[in-house]
Amino acid sequence: MREAGTWTAEAKRAAGDPPASLSAFALTAIAPDNGPEPLSSASFGIGCKSCGRDEFEVASFPVVAPDPSPYYGLAPGDIFLRPPHRLRCSHCGNAGTIFDARTDGYDGILGGGCAYESGSEGEDFAAGPFKVIVSATYNVEGSELDELAASAGGGAKATDLFDWLTIIATPVGGGSPLELSYECA
Ligand SMILES: [Zn+2]
Repeated sequence: MREAGTWTAEAKRAAGDPPASLSAFALTAIAPDNGPEPLSSASFGIGCKSCGRDEFEVASFPVVAPDPSPYYGLAPGDIFLRPPHRLRCSHCGNAGTIFDARTDGYDGILGGGCAYESGSEGEDFAAGPFKVIVSATYNVEGSELDELAASAGGGAKATDLFDWLTIIATPVGGGSPLELSYECA
């Protein structure tokens, strides 16, 4: 499934210079089909840096929402798959972090963390394997991102400052994709 549209300048830049937070993986930018709609997201197919395959297990820190549920869109009893998320290659076992709400993206780098509860114990790998696509979205203009990245220091670059990150994990054996989406600004 390929999106149709035309990358914004910021998305195009990210496609060629992906966020450092994705650097544990081999990334293949997925160019959209031509269309008139502006696309502010750069999407990447995720591969294993060690063996080159592209099937992964997806880790999270699940928690059952209490009553009343403090989690947006989740009812009491629903399971919230908390970040951070790691991917583990189904073939060679190489693993790396794909998203950490505490350190990644606009608020992770500039604001001391995105507004999500993170887990630290009880990491669980969802049944897979999955093919994984990650989309980083940029609604802030590139020149402003440059200034913000420079002010953040620590080697941050403009494309590290995505304001949304979506992980779409499609089961290799069929079934509904697992979608993890975070507003990071
Ligand atoms: Zn591998």
